[in-house]
Amino acid sequence: KIFASLITIGDELLIGQTIDTNSAWMAQQLNDAGIWVQRRVAVGDDRQAIIRALEEEGADSHIILITGGLGPTADDITKPVLCEYFGGKMVQNAGALQNVMDIVQTRGLPMLERNLEQAMVPDAATIIQNKRGTAPGMWFEKNGRIYVSMPGVPHEMKGMMEGYVIPHLRQRFTMPALLHHTLITSGQGESSVAERIKDFEAALPAHMKLAYLPSYGLLKLRLTTFAPDQAAAEADMNKAFSELGTLLADIRVADRDEPMGVILGSLLKTRGLRLGTAESCTGGKIASMVTAVPGSSAWFNGSVVSYANETKMNVLGVRAATLEQYGAVSEETVKEMAAGALEVLRADCVIAVSGIMGPDGGSPEKPVGTVWIAVGGKNSLRTRRYHFRYDRERNTDMTCIAAMNELRK
Ligand code: ATP
Ligand code: MG
Repeated sequence: KIFASLITIGDELLIGQTIDTNSAWMAQQLNDAGIWVQRRVAVGDDRQAIIRALEEEGADSHIILITGGLGPTADDITKPVLCEYFGGKMVQNAGALQNVMDIVQTRGLPMLERNLEQAMVPDAATIIQNKRGTAPGMWFEKNGRIYVSMPGVPHEMKGMMEGYVIPHLRQRFTMPALLHHTLITSGQGESSVAERIKDFEAALPAHMKLAYLPSYGLLKLRLTTFAPDQAAAEADMNKAFSELGTLLADIRVADRDEPMGVILGSLLKTRGLRLGTAESCTGGKIASMVTAVPGSSAWFNGSVVSYANETKMNVLGVRAATLEQYGAVSEETVKEMAAGALEVLRADCVIAVSGIMGPDGGSPEKPVGTVWIAVGGKNSLRTRRYHFRYDRERNTDMTCIAAMNELRK
């Protein structure tokens, strides 16, 4: 195995101001290239912390990818610290200088001293030009380990990874094949599923791993395999994955780790059905998740965000008497919302939701997290009551996924 570590640098990561998305993205890229990421470390803009991370990760990994702290401001210290760690001195890099001048010119900015600083690099490094920004990347080698330092700006880092780092790593190492494959299930918890497939799990060869990932009311099962070459890995994977799929056929939702919008979309498209949504508590989020899928215009008509009771009545034709008697969060109301949306949106099938997302608005009969969902077509409407026990944001996300999954069934 080829091992990698990821070091992300920046105080903003440690105080929670910025979410470290760089690590997740880099880990995916490395995995696709057959490189095993064994550790991710976040440190502040602090000399000692950076040096310690370099030492520790360099002791265990062949490849150490570093992002952040390359900016032209005083808080960014990664570059001088790397220069100190790898030895040598700072020199001006002609390519990086040209790049800075080009960028300053195209953007019509004044050339500042600190911009010129961006072109100063440790002479121990091979420079990776930054096509999307001013800070160059740096490739170091020490004791047979490769260290690559890239900017923290995700878009700039991605450009370097795709354009330089991954291709060069592929050249350098003979990678074994590393494959991940995910089965999505719904309707049973981790423990019951684990119980059902315990024999399968026990019989897995040592180089295969099974992981359980509960996610918004669904359960994802990820199989990972490692083999000397791609064909061997695929053969192992296909055998185990199809066995797993057969064992869990009754609760299987998808054979790939795809968003629910994609799963639902391909189903509706195959059946030639067009969808509409009537959303109260989700405020259009289901429509947003659906339209995030490229090509969704082929199967999605639109949404009525009927948040106020007046809108439920005026736009969807929900009867005042229904709202009066049963309330906005009720089986009767979502049924009428659904019927109205099918009409107004001229859809073949519909998702209607109404619920109490919190933190306020609950009652003993309808506690916070109570949601009524109606799905189906004109003559096949089904309803279901859910009770989610989280905060407002998560209750909303759970409602969206549950409602889309309900229609999928
Ligand atoms: P540049 O010189 O191009 O600005 P930099 O290396 O100095 O790059 P930073 O100053 O550390 O980058 O961060 C720049 C931006 O990138 C900040 O907005 C920061 O929030 C974001 N960022 C930094 N690290 C990460 C990370 N690990 N994941 C996601 N975003 C990050
Ligand atoms: Mg920074």
